[in-house]
Amino acid sequence: MFTGRPYTMWRYAEFLPVFDEKNIVSLGEGWTPILPLKNLSAQLGIREILLKDESVNPTGSFKARGLSVAISKAKELGIEHCIIPTAGNAGGAMSAYAAKAGIRATVIMPKHTPSALKEECRMYGAELILLDGLIDACGKKAKQMAAEIGAFDMSTMKEPYRLEGKKTLGFEIAEQLNWRLPDLIIYPTGGGTGLIGMWQAFKEMQRLGWLTGKLPRMVIVQSKKCNPMIQMFENGTVPETFIPEASIAYGLSVPYPFAKDLIQQVVLESNGTAITVTEEEMEKGIEHIAVTEGLLLSPEGSATYIGLKKLIEKDYAKEDESVLLFNTGSWFKYR
Ligand SMILES: *Cc1c(COP(=O)(O)O)cnc(C)c1O
Repeated sequence: MFTGRPYTMWRYAEFLPVFDEKNIVSLGEGWTPILPLKNLSAQLGIREILLKDESVNPTGSFKARGLSVAISKAKELGIEHCIIPTAGNAGGAMSAYAAKAGIRATVIMPKHTPSALKEECRMYGAELILLDGLIDACGKKAKQMAAEIGAFDMSTMKEPYRLEGKKTLGFEIAEQLNWRLPDLIIYPTGGGTGLIGMWQAFKEMQRLGWLTGKLPRMVIVQSKKCNPMIQMFENGTVPETFIPEASIAYGLSVPYPFAKDLIQQVVLESNGTAITVTEEEMEKGIEHIAVTEGLLLSPEGSATYIGLKKLIEKDYAKEDESVLLFNTGSWFKYR
């Protein structure tokens, strides 16, 4: 069906919102490997543990998918200046695609972010603004600046096209696994774009008749330092007493996700669940996967492995099941 198509996420171009091919801004994103973690499967007694390794994307994270589409569409719409609040990776990705497209980029990032992420934006020629606080503070500043200077605000889920790019995760997983999805997908959730995007892709493929079996249970993982979605599941709401802190998994340091209702809807509809992990667990997890599988995961990626361990303890993940973990970013960007 996809013979002769490029080995990038643009092989699914018909599902993406760019009208004219000449507006596509691509750095080779997508078509990342799904690696079977056989040593880990044997250790944990689970039939199949797979890892979608998104760290090999341009700019070292899966943010490339969303921003390749968003910047392509910005180019098509004639937008000349984009602004983005970011915990780190989205800013780098936007800067790179904007550089290629000849679009001006402004990135607003928390001060405490690791230096590789700041340097990257500057190298791509973006204007970098550093703030105290977390991504929500950056989001407020971005909104205000966008209005003042007439730049286009690329905030997660507030502009529509990054989600479309993240949908390609769903198409890719289905195609790579021969149109049979895993029983369980464990996703490190910040703003929720990837989770919601995958679910949308699964629904689109069901409507097309490309998928017939049951859809996976979608599990979200967050850090104990910043787990608004888990709070929502446990208490029905994010309590007043919730004080978010920065996590080493900065992709998960999103205290007030704009799309919280959609995230919850995907988890409930898919019969999924929500898991919290600690900073120490994520650090131990990175070491364990490094020596067991020869892979260096980002803290967010490690969180999905820790999440699986907890799901096994709870007897939620069963031994005859197939589980897909996500490494959403490169370990090398956390230096
Ligand atoms: C942004 C990010 C996440 C969270 O992704 P969402 O789709 O916004 O929930 C997870 N891991 C890394 C490395 C990220 O950069």
